Amino acid sequence: MLEALRSIVQAVNAAGNLQAALDIIVSRIAEVMGTEVCTVYLRDPESGRLIFMANQGLNPDLIGKISLGPDEGLVGQVARREEPVNLDHAEKHPNFLYLPGIGEEQYHSFLGAPIIHQRTVMGVLVVQQKDSRRFDEDEEAFLVTMSAQLAGVIAHARATGSISTAQNAVGATASFKGIAGATGVAIGRAVVVAPIAELHSVPRRQSDDPQLELQAFQSALSAVRADIHALSEKLFKQLPADEHALFDVYLRIIDDGTWAAEVVKKINEGEWAQGALSQVMSSHIRTFEMMEDAYFKERATDIKDLGRRVLAYLQTSEVEPAEYPEKTILVGEELTASMLGEVPREKLVGMVSVRGSSNSHVAILARAMGIPTVMGAADLPYTQIENANLIVDGYSGYVHYNPSAEVYEHFRSVSEEDQVLTQGLEALRDLPSETLDGHRMPLWVNTGLMADVARSLDRGAEGVGLYRTEIPFLLRERFPSEEEQRAIYREQLIAFAPLPVTMRTLDIGGDKALPYFPIEEENPFLGWRGIRVTLDHPEIFLVQVRAMLKASEGLNNLRIMLPMISNVQEVDEALELVRRAYDELIEDGWDITLPPIGVMVEVPAAVYQARQLARRVDFLSVGSNDLTQYLLAVDRNNTRVADLYHAYHPAVLNSLRQVVDAAHAEGKPVGICGELAGDPAAVLLLMAMGYDMLSMNDNSLLRVKAVIRSCRFDELQSLLDHSMQVDTADEVKSLLRKMMIDIGMERLLQPIGA
Ligand code: PEP
Ligand code: MG
Repeated sequence: MLEALRSIVQAVNAAGNLQAALDIIVSRIAEVMGTEVCTVYLRDPESGRLIFMANQGLNPDLIGKISLGPDEGLVGQVARREEPVNLDHAEKHPNFLYLPGIGEEQYHSFLGAPIIHQRTVMGVLVVQQKDSRRFDEDEEAFLVTMSAQLAGVIAHARATGSISTAQNAVGATASFKGIAGATGVAIGRAVVVAPIAELHSVPRRQSDDPQLELQAFQSALSAVRADIHALSEKLFKQLPADEHALFDVYLRIIDDGTWAAEVVKKINEGEWAQGALSQVMSSHIRTFEMMEDAYFKERATDIKDLGRRVLAYLQTSEVEPAEYPEKTILVGEELTASMLGEVPREKLVGMVSVRGSSNSHVAILARAMGIPTVMGAADLPYTQIENANLIVDGYSGYVHYNPSAEVYEHFRSVSEEDQVLTQGLEALRDLPSETLDGHRMPLWVNTGLMADVARSLDRGAEGVGLYRTEIPFLLRERFPSEEEQRAIYREQLIAFAPLPVTMRTLDIGGDKALPYFPIEEENPFLGWRGIRVTLDHPEIFLVQVRAMLKASEGLNNLRIMLPMISNVQEVDEALELVRRAYDELIEDGWDITLPPIGVMVEVPAAVYQARQLARRVDFLSVGSNDLTQYLLAVDRNNTRVADLYHAYHPAVLNSLRQVVDAAHAEGKPVGICGELAGDPAAVLLLMAMGYDMLSMNDNSLLRVKAVIRSCRFDELQSLLDHSMQVDTADEVKSLLRKMMIDIGMERLLQPIGA
């Protein structure tokens, strides 16, 4: 059964378009289950009707021509109730609806299963037979499993289909749903970026010079051939004959001219070499993967490996830097900070990542830089949209492909309104951050890039609550030296002096991998992250702390903060190392003072030990992004569970309050530097809880200040009390919404954190 299931899903995945996929589904399922009839009905999203889309065994002339309403027939019942129907005499059921001409009369048994993708019914899968018998449990389970697996594939094929229809029909458009990553609207052109040597994510692109592309392909092929020969010779004596034969297989694949000829043909037709290679190799890989024979299946892995080797050469031989249009919308399967860093800032207007969620680091960076972004646009056929006109709606999380004039006009005016709002907020720049009844709320910023600094100061930041030191590390090809780090840190410290700058020690792991220090783990967010890495590598930690301390000479505005602390020993060990670095520098004659040291509260254990932690250090700072992820057991990058990631969840709010009380009980200040601190509505609660400082990306600064200056502190306590009594995040959200309306700040409500 499992094998049949796998092979059908693979065959469907390999289909060129939606109709081909559906045709494969019905014929293969009928064959595997031994039924006379198999049908897929697909729900039309607009009318809600279930259309007879693909079939084996009934009247083929009616395909695409007849449909059932959601209240009609057994098929309607399956869709409406979202559960299977299994009958031996379908025609006797009260909901049976006779469709003239379809030819169902002779089939008595009926088994239908709903096709559900992301909680939405997409259609119904039905098998029918002449014998009047109930399908047995195994058959029912098979059909249900099949339809659950196919739902995603069909959704994807449908989305891809809407793109090819749009490409073929002038003026046609398509929209794709994702998650709002950074607010704002971007109108521009798609530039699709792919990670090195990932065959499946290479975009389709027309070449200007096929001759040049051919040359590049031939030389990449020769380079790979030479590599394999070299490898083969090197390992000749070390490998048993059997294993060594693998190299012969590789060489045979390279020398077998068929696939190379296909690549050449595609290049001659105008595709660039990388695209041609990716398309040809992917189709060969799928063919081998679908083979029953285990030996041939394995060959798929060899072909993939070879394909990646050739692609790697092609990618490194790309001498011309990528050309970015004036209004670039960066699109990729999984965008990273370094991909973002490659685009000149003035040209980058928006971003779309097929994977990830609003809490992925690239989304945080996008918010910090004010780049409208949609994350987790899972169904976007990103390899096919190079150079297309796109609108990124960072408010609702939609991407509009080839938008109509009306849609374009709508978003152009939204974008203009945004600019007016932003300009209006500029007036608050030099005004104090205090409530109508005089409560001061210091607003600090989160930084990482030098570009953040000027904007932050310009917007009246009172300090840096989180300098993400991993960002300069991420943008390099090796660890920066102590002197390089010192220079980078000094620049930050000088820019803000005498205002305080809180530098976080290197926080890598989780979703932040350094290209030159890969960490491969099954569960990276529960693995080697943050302080755990740097305590295991004291040389990295000490170099960084020394660089920070040296950088602070004569300025004395440095604060050091430790990420991902989950027990007190980690704090004690880190404090000892900082002390050691400090003593050594003093010995060497540096004129520095020991900076305040703080702990980030990012994991539930730290919430429960907040008092013990606070006792050891000078301040606490809550990292609400990770704290939410760990409290709710929701991966901050996972699109599938993004709806469950809710910083207004009562459990999160309770923890946030507990941390403030614990820190204050020890007489220590406490701030918050997660994204929640930049959410204008959440700020009402954070102030009432007693946070001493809020640290956010500079784009949120004036919005948050506008809210603070519009409310009365003495009214916030009852809002907090009320919010702590409700049971759900949605109720908290409504309370905040109401308050925002009451204080005239409705226009600043935003999806982040909610
Ligand atoms: C946090 O987790 O809230 C935080 C500020 O750290 P980062 O987002 O960099 O993990
Ligand atoms: Mg964190």
